[in-house]
Amino acid sequence: MFKLISGKEISLSVKERVAEEVKDLKKNGIEPCLAVILVGDDPASKVYVNNKKKACEFCGIRSLEYLLPADASQEELNSLVEKLNSDESVNGILCQLPLPAHLDEKEVLNLIKPEKDVDAFHPENVGHIMIGDFNFLPCTPAGIMEMLKYENICLDGKNCVIIGRSNIVGKPMAMLMLKENATVTVCHSHTKNLKEVVARADVVVAAVGKAKFVTADMIKDGAVIIDVGINRCEDGKLYGDVDFEACKEKASYITPVPGGVGPMTIATLMQNTVTAAKIQKG
Ligand code: NDP
Repeated sequence: MFKLISGKEISLSVKERVAEEVKDLKKNGIEPCLAVILVGDDPASKVYVNNKKKACEFCGIRSLEYLLPADASQEELNSLVEKLNSDESVNGILCQLPLPAHLDEKEVLNLIKPEKDVDAFHPENVGHIMIGDFNFLPCTPAGIMEMLKYENICLDGKNCVIIGRSNIVGKPMAMLMLKENATVTVCHSHTKNLKEVVARADVVVAAVGKAKFVTADMIKDGAVIIDVGINRCEDGKLYGDVDFEACKEKASYITPVPGGVGPMTIATLMQNTVTAAKIQKG
């Protein structure tokens, strides 16, 4: 019998904790503020930005939105980031990805001041994560760690397999699991015998970007399954990277899509914004 790990429920508890912290900060005259930059009108990005705005409202965080047209130049985007970097009332800056193809993502992310980099994508913050000494954790992997902690799932000595090696999910996920003394394997599109590798996992994290990629025959009985994927399919519905209906029968714990990792990512962003405000205000 599997247990569903509810990102909705756990993210609510995180946001309630953050809201309490915000109340305390406000008593000391500090109002945390998150600035979100959206370039163009990608519908999925608009939904994410709107969800972030709602979470800010819930937590009492001031949120600023900067909408740039799809044909905005690199100079326009860079100068907006620089303006927000030097604005002392702004604690966190997030540039919604992906950017239109003509813009250099790396250039923008590197421009955000590390102490305002609430996504933890700046190389300085990435370096801190590597050595296990950090202020901010990347929102999705940190949200997953929070879920595991909430469910009392201990990673010490566990065999954890992450499918996907992106800078925003797979790689930092590996670092966080390693810090908890797991034995970590990171798979990618060149991995040989993926099925066999995943079948040995006590904990599987799927971050591939392909609907129902992980099938029941890849899952060991009693495995914990964390599904990061968000794939909108032709029927208009959202699917994860895991074939949920089939895999749940073999899992001990499993996250749904939607309502799993997604809300945790946003809750961690709220936590990071408050951490940023605390650091900046001493
Ligand atoms: P990327 O496209 O950056 O990375 C996908 C990874 O999957 C790559 O490392 C790729 O390997 C690997 N991969 C692709 N095909 C295979 C295969 N056949 N076998 C093994 N590995 C494979 O994606 P992201 O990490 O940015 O996102 C992954 C998914 O998570 C997406 O659906 C995204 O929408 C979702 N997402 C959800 C979030 C949330 O809050 N829930 C947050 C962020 C992302 P290679 O490196 O070799 O190309």
